[in-house]
Formats: sequence, C-alpha cells, structure tokens
Amino acid sequence: MKKGKLLVFSAPSGSGKTTIVRHLLAQPELNLEFSISAATREPRQGEVHGEHYHFISLEEFKQHIKAGDFIEWEEVYRDNFYGTLKSEVERIWAKGKNVIFDIDVAGGLRIKKKFPEETLAVFVKPPSIDELKIRLKKRSTESDDKINMRIAKASVELATAPQFDTIIKNHDLDIALAEAYKLVKDFIEV
Ligand code: 5GP
Repeated sequence: MKKGKLLVFSAPSGSGKTTIVRHLLAQPELNLEFSISAATREPRQGEVHGEHYHFISLEEFKQHIKAGDFIEWEEVYRDNFYGTLKSEVERIWAKGKNVIFDIDVAGGLRIKKKFPEETLAVFVKPPSIDELKIRLKKRSTESDDKINMRIAKASVELATAPQFDTIIKNHDLDIALAEAYKLVKDFIEV
C-alpha cells in the first residue's frame, strides 16, 4: 500500500483545532480524510457513531489494547479513553488519501515518533488560558467540573508545544485557517 501523509492537529480542548480540521477537510484538493478515533465517552448531542468517533465500551477498548490494534491510545481524561486504530490509517491510505487527526498532544507526538517521515505535527495554541475558559463555557457541552479538568490539563499540554513541527496561534480564526491550509498544502506536495 502506498503511504499517504499524516496531518496531526493537537491542542488543548477549546483551542479551535476541531474547527481548523473541519475547514481543511472541506478542501477537496488536499485529499484528506478524518481519522475516526475510538472513544469510551458518551456521545454528545449530534455526534454520530462511526462519523465523529467509534464510541465503544471500556471493555471493548481494553480488548483492542490487548490485541495491539492501536497506533496510539491515551486516557485523555480520567476514565475517558481515546485511541487511533491502525485499521483507520490503513483504510484511508488504501484509498490513496492523506489522514488528518484531531487528537491530544501525547497521541500526536506518538504518531510523529512512529511515522517521522510521513507526519506533520501541528500544535494549535489558544490565545490564553482565560480565553480557553471562556470558549469552553460558551460551548457548554461539559459540566463545570469537566471544564475545570480540561483547563488544568491545558497548562500541561501548552508546555509540549515546542516538540511539534510547527505552532499555529489561534488568535484570529481566519488567519489560523489560512495558515493551516498553507502548511498542509506545502507538506503534502513534497
Ligand atoms: P473530546 O472529548 O472533546 O471529543 O476530545 C477530548 C480530547 O481527546 C481532544 O483533545 C481530542 O483531540 C482527543 N482525542 C480524540 N481522539 C483521540 C485519539 O485517538 N487519541 C488521542 N490520544 N487523543 C484523542
């Protein structure tokens, strides 16, 4: 199978990386397909099994770990496991497409380590922790407890930014989108 490219977008929750990833997916010339992760959390309203995530039980997740089915996996938040299945990357590469990932920083760096030649690892940086708090509250998809957990994790995640190939500062969404587009276009054309 001919290997495509791997475009990793990682960032603290609420940084806007999902918006960036969606924008890139909408550009047909980039030939991207989204890597659908396995996750053990409950679907949020509007989330579809097999589209946003493969929502599976913790038991099933553990079986995948045992079977060696994951390229990487993380307990991103307590009791919430997320992982990238090898079969996802193989499925997308078999179609001759490039894979785009929306995953946490540890997972993103692990993919880069496993596929150093094929991967562009991008860190999306929020303007500030305060701004992140505002965005997460506005989104109101999580309880206050969960928001606080995500904020606490964000400080740790921000410290990993220098390990990425490149950093996009998401102060102005239009600028961030244009920057992300150029980075990906240049990388896939090499
Ligand atoms: P959410 O619950 O908001 O959908 O995602 C929580 C975090 O888990 C986000 O940072 C998201 O990017 C990350 N995530 C999603 N899928 C994966 C995955 O397959 N592996 C890892 N390591 N993180 C993931």
